Amino acid sequence: MRVRACGINHVDIDMRNGSSRIPLELPVTLGMEFGGEIAEVGAGVTGWSVGDRVSPVFQIHCNACDMCALGEHHHCRNINMLGIQSPGGYAEYVAVPAWVLYRLPDGMSYEAAAAAQTSFCTALHALRTRAQMREGDWVLVNAAGSGVGTAAIQVARHLGGRVIASARTDEKLERARELGAEAVINYSRENITEAVRAATGGRGVDIVYESVGGEILRDSIDAMTTFGKLICIGCHAGEVEPVDFIHLFRNEWSLLGSARSRFGEIVESLDLVAQGKLTPVVHGVFPLAQAADAHRLMESRGHTGKILLAP
Ligand SMILES: [Zn+2]
Repeated sequence: MRVRACGINHVDIDMRNGSSRIPLELPVTLGMEFGGEIAEVGAGVTGWSVGDRVSPVFQIHCNACDMCALGEHHHCRNINMLGIQSPGGYAEYVAVPAWVLYRLPDGMSYEAAAAAQTSFCTALHALRTRAQMREGDWVLVNAAGSGVGTAAIQVARHLGGRVIASARTDEKLERARELGAEAVINYSRENITEAVRAATGGRGVDIVYESVGGEILRDSIDAMTTFGKLICIGCHAGEVEPVDFIHLFRNEWSLLGSARSRFGEIVESLDLVAQGKLTPVVHGVFPLAQAADAHRLMESRGHTGKILLAP
């Protein structure tokens, strides 16, 4: 594949600085999600031609282990992910297996493809499969300005939810409103628990979509209603946090984890983008030579939505 656009994920930064806890064999070429065109077709490959516009599903599973047999491809015992175990899209060219290719329909840009996979499929799996979200549920989306946050607002709305978005700047919250959040919380000056109670008439939210950690996570737990579910997909700002289990059992709360998604959910995410039902929010596109600047921007949290590289 000739790579035309590649999405940056926070895990890229974690792998670069050594904090990801993912065993890596160096050298690693980062870049999990990308779009481009076929530059050359391997021997024995049928159905594809040079010039076809494609995006590979980033998660390559073995189809032979117990987890694959259950359809839980993201827990494949022999998982091989582009940009982690296999070379990824921070490159001009990359070789990928033909069976993971998704054909980009006319009108779906390389940029949209590069921004569409990880954040939307993570939100779909977390909200629908793990948290069993139902129409009408109140969903609190923390870090609403991030790639995963802007995606989760849209997925929660797509599933019929009512969204409260939280972030630390008014600019990010304004964008969250445009994406469908009906209430917003600026946690640089507001307490999440109190603000959620105010926005829901004292009731609290059914689901918390959490990717921050630390104090934000703890305050969000207290913002849940009876039977509330907190779904954690990341915790960069604090990985260990005390939880009051008396509140947990009396309210019958659930604390859930979610990591990536099934193969079909990734394809579904791409389909929803192709159909215009979900729209990736792109903050900006950097040349590959400025990948370091792009990482610095993500680390500064000054972005809203996805940051892309254009090799
Ligand atoms: Zn497997």
